[in-house]
Parts: sequence; structure tokens; C-alpha cells
Amino acid sequence: MKNPADCLFCKIIAGDIPATKVFESDSVIGFNDINPQAPVHVLFIPREHVRSAAELHDDQAHLAGELILAARAYAAQIGISDEGFRLVINCNGHGGQTVYHLHLHLLGGEQLALGFGS
Ligand code: 5GP
Ligand code: ZN
Repeated sequence: MKNPADCLFCKIIAGDIPATKVFESDSVIGFNDINPQAPVHVLFIPREHVRSAAELHDDQAHLAGELILAARAYAAQIGISDEGFRLVINCNGHGGQTVYHLHLHLLGGEQLALGFGS
């Protein structure tokens, strides 16, 4: 799908909205969340626009792997792999998705609360 002009994260990819980018590859970028929920809070997004995990097509499965590998590489680079981290994808309304461009949250840098909130 062509990147829609009204997508916030597509604008960050295009450089039209500033963000602190911490990771870039051919298919994925990572940037600091504007409202961090942990000392490390990075969003990894595919350069290709996908609305949500609920709309990831079979032929886009590689994007899911690339997001996780990007987060893994960055966590190793900043030295939080051994302590641990959390990866989260919020999906559609009940999942708490607020920006409709697929993104993987990397949270870490401290002991995170156990369990899942409702
Ligand atoms: P969601 O709730 O959709 O899973 O996560 C969206 C995330 O995007 C939130 O954690 C929010 O803080 C972050 N966010 C929203 N607008 C911006 C922005 O303009 N820049 C950055 N860097 N993060 C944003
Ligand atoms: Zn987008």
C-alpha cells in the first residue's frame, strides 16, 4: 500500500515530523516514544505502511520478523538484553492502538510490572 499522507508515522519516516531515530534499516526504523513509559521506550515501525497487526497480510509476514529482529539488535546494542525487555504490539481499539501504523514497542531499562493490565 502507498503510504497515506495523513499517517503520523509515515510523516516521521518522510522526515516531515521530527523524531529521535535510534535505528534504521532498509525496511524498519526505530525512534524514541514521545511519551516514554520506561527508561527505554522505542517504537519500531515498517517503512511500508500497514494499519495494524490485524491487517498484516500473509505476504507481509517478513515485516513482523524484521520488527522483532530490529528490537533485538537495538536492545543488544544498548546492553539491556541480559536484564531483559518487553515487546508489545497494541492492536486496534480494545488493544489500545492509538496510531494506525503498525509499531512494536520496546520497553526496558528497569524492572517492568509483571502481568498484563486490563
Ligand atoms: P499505541 O498506543 O498506538 O500502541 O502507541 C502509540 C505510541 O506513539 C504512544 O506510545 C505515543 O506516545 C507515541 N506517539 C504518539 N505521537 C507521537 C509522536 O509524534 N512522536 C513520537 N516519537 N511518538 C509518538
Ligand atoms: Zn503510515
